[in-house]
Amino acid sequence: MAERAGRVVFLDRDGTINEEVHYLHRPEDLRFLPGAPEAIRMLKEAGFTLIVITNQAGVARGYYTCRDVEALHAYMNEQLQKEGGRIDGFYYCPHHPVYGIGSYKTVCHCRKPDIGMFEMAERNFSVDKAHSYMIGDKELDIQAGHNYGVQSVLVGTGYGAEHKEAAERQGREPFYDYYAEDLKAAARYIILKEGDPAFRPEDKI
Ligand SMILES: [Mg+2]
Ligand SMILES: [Zn+2]
Repeated sequence: MAERAGRVVFLDRDGTINEEVHYLHRPEDLRFLPGAPEAIRMLKEAGFTLIVITNQAGVARGYYTCRDVEALHAYMNEQLQKEGGRIDGFYYCPHHPVYGIGSYKTVCHCRKPDIGMFEMAERNFSVDKAHSYMIGDKELDIQAGHNYGVQSVLVGTGYGAEHKEAAERQGREPFYDYYAEDLKAAARYIILKEGDPAFRPEDKI
C-alpha cells in the first residue's frame, strides 16, 4: 500500500518494541518483544510513518552517550529491515531535570510527557493528528500523546499491565484510548480502525 500522507504511529521504545533492559545501550543487549518486528512491518505495509520517541535519561546520568543511542537505533533498524520493517525516524531526549550531569541537567521541552520530540518530528514528517497515534507502555507515554493531540494505545508489555492495574485500583477512568496486549495487537487495532470507516473502538479484534 502507498504511504498515506500524515498517518503517523509514534512509538515508545523500551517495553514497547524491545524488552526493558536497565539503561539499554549495547546492541548485543537488544531483545525485541515477541511479535514486535512483525507489528512494525504490518504498520509499514499499511502505509504508516513510524517514529520512535524515547526518553534516554541514561545519557543525562552519564551511563552512555548520544553516540551509543544512535548506534543502537541504527542497529535496531538493521534488524527490523531483515523482517521487512523499519523505523522512519528516531527522536530521544538525553536530559534529566534532577539527575543530569552538566548541560544535560535541564528542564527541557523534549522529555515525555512534554511534546518537544513530536515537534522535532514535525520538521521532517507531515503529521495528520486526527489519524495518528502514540503507543507506549507507561502512563507518561500516553500523557505525551494526549498533550500532543493524538490517539493513544497502552500496551500490556513493559510496565503497561502494571500501570493499567494501578489506575483501576485507584478507581480512575482509563487514561488511554485503547489497551492492547502487545505491539502486534496495537498494530492490528490501528490498521483496522484506519482502514475501515465503520470500525468502532469497542469492536473486538
Ligand atoms: Mg517504555
Ligand atoms: Zn529533553
